[in-house]
Order: sequence, then structure tokens, then C-alpha cells
Amino acid sequence: MIIVMQRHAPKEYIERVLSEIKRYEGLNPVPLYGTERTVIAVIGDERILDERHIASLPGVSKVMPVLHPYKLASKETKHERTVVKCDGVTIGGQTVVVMAGPCSVENEEQMDAAAKGVKEAGATILRGGAFKPRTTPYSFQGLGRKGVLMLEKAAKKHGLVSISEVMDVRDVEYIGNHIDIIQIGARNMQNFDLLKEAGKNKKPVMLKRGMSATIKEFLLAAEYILAQGNQNVILCERGIRTFEDETRNTLCIATVPIVKELSHLPIIVDPSHGTGKPSLIPPMARAAIAAGADGLMIEVHPNPGVALSDADQALTLQDFQNLMEEIRPIVAAMGRII
Ligand code: PEP
Ligand code: MN
Repeated sequence: MIIVMQRHAPKEYIERVLSEIKRYEGLNPVPLYGTERTVIAVIGDERILDERHIASLPGVSKVMPVLHPYKLASKETKHERTVVKCDGVTIGGQTVVVMAGPCSVENEEQMDAAAKGVKEAGATILRGGAFKPRTTPYSFQGLGRKGVLMLEKAAKKHGLVSISEVMDVRDVEYIGNHIDIIQIGARNMQNFDLLKEAGKNKKPVMLKRGMSATIKEFLLAAEYILAQGNQNVILCERGIRTFEDETRNTLCIATVPIVKELSHLPIIVDPSHGTGKPSLIPPMARAAIAAGADGLMIEVHPNPGVALSDADQALTLQDFQNLMEEIRPIVAAMGRII
């Protein structure tokens, strides 16, 4: 159920509704503050709620059922699109945001060269994995907290926002203290404790689609983060596992318009993990933007030949610069800026 408050309803009316709902054991009201209107989503078994009483409270405009199982992520609950703001960079607004950098943080020189190169090409967010989810325990596992600090240093030096993946609930606070955007990877999309911990942290969270997740499951995973009161959630389509083996994954561009129909959350596309092939990354980046994506995540390495993870899909700095030039006319055609 969602409770839609009247436009510009005063704070005390909102507080009154919140406290009335809290009186019911097992119900948790989550307010979503819009620029004009506040809506309150009720989490829990709402059948116990006296709907008519809530509807009669001062400042309440209407009480509505939510048809989708995800409430807070749904466009039914919040019509205004969510724009995540992060140190002067906005995700989900008019600007198409580009996150770029190596798969893994390897050393300071690599991060410095990557940061300098992606910044010059026009990226605003620097990526780099410090905690790496690797298929085999024998491959490079990432530098851990040391890697987080290297990413932080390179991003700060070059005036970039930073993003890095967290795999363990015990590292969420640490990442949140050093990195601007917390990434939850495909393999952890349904790690519910991790989602909740990231939701408690107030840093923006980018959630990648699980490789066998439906869009409903994807949005329900986002719901876990939102239900903790963190409204700054960014979704990322990174391809799913199908019978096709010509590409690393099958990159589902349709996710972009589907998510835009169902949700107010920004959605970006990762054609690097989505295809696994450098030659396919620029065309899929163009397709993603043409489909309405709010941004891209691209793996770029100053020297892909020596990369410790995902070397085969890394773009060189020159390739990345070319990609940025290629997407500019598509961005303009979509009435957006970069
Ligand atoms: C990554 O972006 O570093 C990553 C591991 O991607 P995914 O979770 O999509 O596999
Ligand atoms: Mn990778």
C-alpha cells in the first residue's frame, strides 16, 4: 500500500502518518520525499492496517494498493524519475554518465594512468574492483582494502567520482567511507544481507543484474536497498546467461526501456561484461544510449595485455577515446548531454 500525501503537506502531517503506521507491529513506513509530494510506502503485511483511518488523517491525499510486488522501486509509487547526485555528477538526469576504468585495481601507476586517460576522454566516474568475485579461487582475487585506497587516491587526484564493488557485509562501511558509489555485482544481486547493509549506508548503490535474474527479481533486489531508506539506487544491465556462447553474456538492451516503464530508478548498461569482446563494446554502447540508458560502464586498461582480470575485454585508452567520440552523436540525438 502507498499513502500519497497532499502537495506540500507539512512535515508534522507526514510525521503523524509515519507514527500511526509504526504503531502496528511488523509494519514499517518508508517515506519517499519528492520535490512536491511525499509518498509513504508501507512495508509488511498491510492487511492489518485500518485503511479508512489512514485515509482520514490530515494531509493524506489518497491511499492506494500497489500492484507490483516491488513498491518503492515502482513508478506507481513515485512518478518523478530518481536522479542520483554524487559530488557534482548526476545519474538519471539529462546527462549520460560514463563510468570507466580497469576491471581490477592492480597498482598505483595503473590507476593513475587509467584515471588520467578516462578523464581526458570524458568519463566522470572511475571504476576499479578491489574485491573481485572470481570464478576460480586460483585467479587474482583483488587487492582488497589496499586497492580501495588506490582507487580513492586516483579518483581524487583526477577529479573523478569513484565506484567499487563490495562483496562482504563487513566491508560495506569501509567502502562507504572511501568510495563514492558502492557497487553490488551480478553474483551478489540476491545476497539479501549485503543488499540490506548497503541500504543502511547512505552512499549511492549501483546494483548489477544477476546473470540469471528476471527483471522482477532485479527490481525486488533494488527494493531491499530502498526499503532501508537509501533512495540512491542505480541499476545496471550487464547481460544474462543464455545458450549463446559467441558472446560472454547476452546483453539485453530491452531491459532499459522495460525498467523505464516499470521504475523511476536510473539504469545504465555495461557492454564490457555484457559482450566480453572489445569489438562489440562500442556498437552495444551506442545501442544502449539509443534505447535510453542513463549511462555506461566500460572496462578500460592502460595496458590490457598485462591486466590481471578480464584482459580480453578491456579497451585501451585509445579505444575508449574512440568510443566516446562515437557515442556523442547518439547522445545528442536522444536530446541528452555528456
Ligand atoms: C565488475 O563490474 O567488476 C563485475 C565483476 O561485473 P559483474 O558483477 O557484472 O560480473
Ligand atoms: Mn571485469
